[in-house]
Amino acid sequence: MTQPKNILKFLHTIENLKVTKRTGWIEHKIANPESIADHMHRMGVMAMLLNDPAVDRNRVIQMAIVHDLAESIAGDIAPSSGMSKEAKAQLEKQAMDSLVAMLEGSLEAREIESLFMEYEDGTTPEAVIVKDLDKFEMIVQAFEYEQRNDADLQSFFDSTRGKFKHPTIISWVTELEIQRNQFHSRKQSAQP
Ligand code: ZN
Repeated sequence: MTQPKNILKFLHTIENLKVTKRTGWIEHKIANPESIADHMHRMGVMAMLLNDPAVDRNRVIQMAIVHDLAESIAGDIAPSSGMSKEAKAQLEKQAMDSLVAMLEGSLEAREIESLFMEYEDGTTPEAVIVKDLDKFEMIVQAFEYEQRNDADLQSFFDSTRGKFKHPTIISWVTELEIQRNQFHSRKQSAQP
């Protein structure tokens, strides 16, 4: 069993997820943006709303709430950093290794690590869904910021368009796009 002092060390490390603002929003000058933990929490709730008997929903929820855990050490590396996909994956893998070591390589730590690796590979049906939710949660948030902060976050919609795979999530994306189009046409017609 992992020593309580190491559990605490781990918990203090992942507190970084609660205080680290997501890079994409900072780059777009969104005031008071959400943290990495905020993003993962709503993905976990989204996973609970997904009704697909073909997948292990509990594993989807678990994967959603740990998929960005390595960012507690590696930080939120955005595409704008210029870092290659491979270098980013390498850095995050090292961070995950440190977290597992912190938890003394326990069975529980290995479970987290295996969910993380499964997400990174993105090949199982559960990982495909979590990848979808990762992008969907981001554009839901982007639309919320567009409404609240009058921000131009078109690039988030452009970079995810056509990339969703799960039919239910595609239907959610379609609804979001309808609402967003309505919002922008209302805004345009309101302009003098
Ligand atoms: Zn994420």
